[in-house]
Amino acid sequence: MTVHKVMILGTGPAGLTAAVYAARANLHPVIIEGNEPGGQLTLTTEVENFPGFPDGILGPELMDNMRKQAERFGASFVNGWVSGVDLSKRPFTVKVNEVDEYQAASLIISTGASAKMLGITGETEMIGRGVSTCATCDGFFFRNKKVLVVGGGDSAMEEATFLSKHAAEVTIVHRRTELRASKVMQERAHNNPKISWALNVAPVSVQSNGKRVTGLEVKDNASGENRVLVADGVFVAIGHQPNTRFLQGMLDLDAIGYIRTRGVTTATSVAGVFACGDVMDPHYRQAVTAAGSGCKAALDVEKFLEGSATLDWSTSSSIHA
Ligand code: NAP
Repeated sequence: MTVHKVMILGTGPAGLTAAVYAARANLHPVIIEGNEPGGQLTLTTEVENFPGFPDGILGPELMDNMRKQAERFGASFVNGWVSGVDLSKRPFTVKVNEVDEYQAASLIISTGASAKMLGITGETEMIGRGVSTCATCDGFFFRNKKVLVVGGGDSAMEEATFLSKHAAEVTIVHRRTELRASKVMQERAHNNPKISWALNVAPVSVQSNGKRVTGLEVKDNASGENRVLVADGVFVAIGHQPNTRFLQGMLDLDAIGYIRTRGVTTATSVAGVFACGDVMDPHYRQAVTAAGSGCKAALDVEKFLEGSATLDWSTSSSIHA
């Protein structure tokens, strides 16, 4: 069986940037596209904060460009999802679609994280048309509008506080009366005159006029009655889940499932396996930070394969708690 020099798992900004760098280093990377080719940016409309595009660029177009750029330098893509890996010995084995097996001398894991969704009627259909999971990406489009932020954790407080800079009104919608968020983040939201609260209500359905969101139907847990909170946007901020289920027991993960990386590098607990992007970053989660860490992963792989790494990949300290 062919042993590829490097395989990259995932095609978000991290994986595709790693692919561009690895391909330009003549490592002939093979990239497994994954379940959501292009990653979370394909779920958004316009991206205005990726440097180099003064007029903005559509998320899917940006990802398509990155892919073409990687292909131009010789990267090849496999359509499928990773159903399992064996990291216990090198070369590593990667199983795709539960049937096809590949072998690789090194791996870059960039499988990303998925925003948790509410799973209510109208939610998926209205993504990009008023439903969003990223205030930093989409907040600007809600200037002087009325928005709702669903969730009671730090993410919801942070998204609401960010949105208050653009929107006319922000309402935090939470299913209980107590918030899960840290005191400091709660206080910041409570002290913000633009933020109001709809507590002890459970989201039931996203309301729309067919084209855009018009509100959120909620059930009042105290009265048992349903009502509609009128709004132009619904930001779902109920947490993210790193896509690492297939790595359980193989790599050092934190309590939530994010891959722990070592020091300032992208090295993981297994020598020859590197991680970049949202799958190892619960904090920044931006396309540009993911792309930056993809670059780092490819440079780390190159050094690792040359055997010229000055770093002991297996023992350097972790940036994670
Ligand atoms: P989280 O702490 O797990 O909070 C998720 C919130 O969403 C909870 O309030 C939960 O309600 C609610 N929720 C979950 N599923 C729901 C559903 N199906 N319907 C309605 N509501 C639902 O997630 P997070 O806020 O993303 O934070 C994750 C971690 O990142 C935390 O450790 C947090 O401290 C950290 N973080 C830190 C910062 C910062 O410091 N700047 C910013 C963001 C995140 P219940 O409370 O009822 O369970």
